[in-house]
Amino acid sequence: MTPAVPRVAVVGGGQLGRMLGLAGVPLGCQFRFLDPAGPDAPAAAVGEVLQGPLDDPDALHALARGADVITYEFENLPAAQVRTLEAQGVRVAPSSRALALAQDRWEEKQYFQQLGVPVAPTRPAVTLEELQTACAEVGFPCVVKTRREGYDGKGQGVVRGPDDVDGVWEALGRGTLPLIAEGWVAFDEEFSIVAARGWDGEKVVWPACQNVHEGGILRLTRAVPAHALSAEQRAAFDLGAALVYRILDDLSYVGVLAVEFFRVGDGVLANEMAPRVHNSGHWTQDGAATSQFENHIRAVVGLPLGPTNLRVGRDGGVAMVNFIGEVPTPAEALGGADSGVVRKLHLYGKSPRPGRKLGHLNLWSDQREALEAELQRQLAQRP
Ligand code: AMP
Repeated sequence: MTPAVPRVAVVGGGQLGRMLGLAGVPLGCQFRFLDPAGPDAPAAAVGEVLQGPLDDPDALHALARGADVITYEFENLPAAQVRTLEAQGVRVAPSSRALALAQDRWEEKQYFQQLGVPVAPTRPAVTLEELQTACAEVGFPCVVKTRREGYDGKGQGVVRGPDDVDGVWEALGRGTLPLIAEGWVAFDEEFSIVAARGWDGEKVVWPACQNVHEGGILRLTRAVPAHALSAEQRAAFDLGAALVYRILDDLSYVGVLAVEFFRVGDGVLANEMAPRVHNSGHWTQDGAATSQFENHIRAVVGLPLGPTNLRVGRDGGVAMVNFIGEVPTPAEALGGADSGVVRKLHLYGKSPRPGRKLGHLNLWSDQREALEAELQRQLAQRP
């Protein structure tokens, strides 16, 4: 049953927490966050932020006190501590199991395979000798990644042939972190499926997010009506959505789950999953009937999920551009001639730093050509 004023506790108070709050406050929810930055965290705009490390059991307990549900916007916190909260009867969504799987690329890949979700050939390695064998087994070229704590392309290196293994081993810390070697995927495109599941098993999925990464960081996402896709894209995206539903049900998952895929023809290979709202789903704030943030909150507090359809006509499309390292002024981002493309600015209130995600722009139009022209104009302003 949904409490009259659901009190939602969120581990992490970054931009995802802030946008969860922006979506949840109109639903009558109250928010409390835990973040090392305390009142300086982006989420301070929408709720109380307790200051503390995310891996501190006392801080987690303080966050949980009086909350109806605990959720997170950041997955690298100790799953064992979340399990302790669950054992004490605290409602946690998504569960510690989903969290633990998403934290370890090797566990995650094995889980995908066991569930019939295709992945690139992958081998674990701890020593240099194991890494040499692992790379040879998955074949060259391949990608070596740390099993844990890699994100936005950090903690990985490309191995073109046997002579590269030593260099990547050095660069990734000489075995201080366990590694995996993963076969190189010559993909046609990258896409993600963002879906949500409620406590009662109700599920929704948004139209596929077509992602472009640069230097391992998401640069832009597009979403278009299904009839604008090729037959191969439609088949691959439908398969991706079916596989994500399979994962949601298998984990009895509650909340938003994002799974990143490589599309190869009409087939898919799963890369990784995030047990939370995801950057590739930010376009849903303005381009979908219900955003990923709102449906995540609806799911975890036990409200019915909202529809996920695109809010543009048959000839339209939606896009999102990330601001990385620097942000335009609002006037710059929103100015310029009226091109028939609606632009919505989302700033996170973070200080600029190279490689840091500082905000994003959502764009949509009932004319895909106009959308694409405006998208290219925006990208050209931010090389
Ligand atoms: P990840 O941290 O695993 O999401 O990787 C970041 C980006 O690196 C991905 O979005 C891809 O663009 C690229 N990448 C990662 N793994 C592979 C792979 N096995 N084959 C080709 N490209 C990859």
